[in-house]
Amino acid sequence: MQKGDEGPTVLLTAGNHGDEYEGQCILRRLIREIDPSSINGRLIILPALNSPAVRAATRTSPLDGGNLNRSFPGDPDSGPTKAIAGFIVQHLFPLTDLAVDFHSGGSTSTYVNTGFLCANTNPDLHRRNVELMEVFGAPFTMVLPPTEAGTDIDFSAYQAGVPFISCELGGAGTVCPAAFNIGWAGLMRVLVKNDVIAHDHPFLSDVPNDSSGTCFVDIASNCTMITAAHGGLFEPLHELGSWVEKGQKAGCTYGLQNFIEPLESHTFESDGVIVIKRRDTLVQSGDHLYCVAGKLSREEVLAMSTKAGS
Ligand SMILES: [Zn+2]
Repeated sequence: MQKGDEGPTVLLTAGNHGDEYEGQCILRRLIREIDPSSINGRLIILPALNSPAVRAATRTSPLDGGNLNRSFPGDPDSGPTKAIAGFIVQHLFPLTDLAVDFHSGGSTSTYVNTGFLCANTNPDLHRRNVELMEVFGAPFTMVLPPTEAGTDIDFSAYQAGVPFISCELGGAGTVCPAAFNIGWAGLMRVLVKNDVIAHDHPFLSDVPNDSSGTCFVDIASNCTMITAAHGGLFEPLHELGSWVEKGQKAGCTYGLQNFIEPLESHTFESDGVIVIKRRDTLVQSGDHLYCVAGKLSREEVLAMSTKAGS
């Protein structure tokens, strides 16, 4: 939708994975409630990007098993999932000045509400994305170093020179109101900051003008997993978003038959914040229980654009 004025074209997508709902609901609300005459520029809003997966309530497409976010840059002749990816790359990215793709956490693990940023090797584009993440203002932003190849939408956006951010809000299969509000507020701030809607737009009435920023965390080189060696019942001691220290007790796994002594006591292996936590109590050997990520300064994040392949 557009007003017809000159202004940026913003591509907004959700349902890249069909069972992730906060973004789908945020974008549907935007379509429902926004007055096109209040837009400066153009919004391209796709709340059910992998539509077959959305209709089937599945992560991947029921038509060809395709994971859309592993199907970029796509291909018009290799099945429906790659066709969707190819359409975005060939027809939408050339129109796009800025893109936001909404995701939610996993089905067996819960994530903190977080922005998600894949660094790229174009320093100007990377800086723009870092600034966008700060404006979006999720409590945390997970950061990955640049890669030299990728099959996700992030990498294709960078290849096309499109400023692009993503996020993981809430959990698969449900809508968490707090996560919805974080995503809605972040999107509104991004639209205001890029002059797509005015700062006094009615949508902003319950949105803080300035986010309190975001805490960047490293989910690559300074990130540790706590993994169960034995199956049983895992009793966690800490919540998502808690800051923990190396050596601190994380929880215990107890056997189903013998619950006097734990099968395993878990301790954290690095300092950082709990960004992912197992949802289900019953665990099998090899299941990840916690993921702890270390903090990154803004300067460290910006410097990541020069570390391709490292
Ligand atoms: Zn996803």
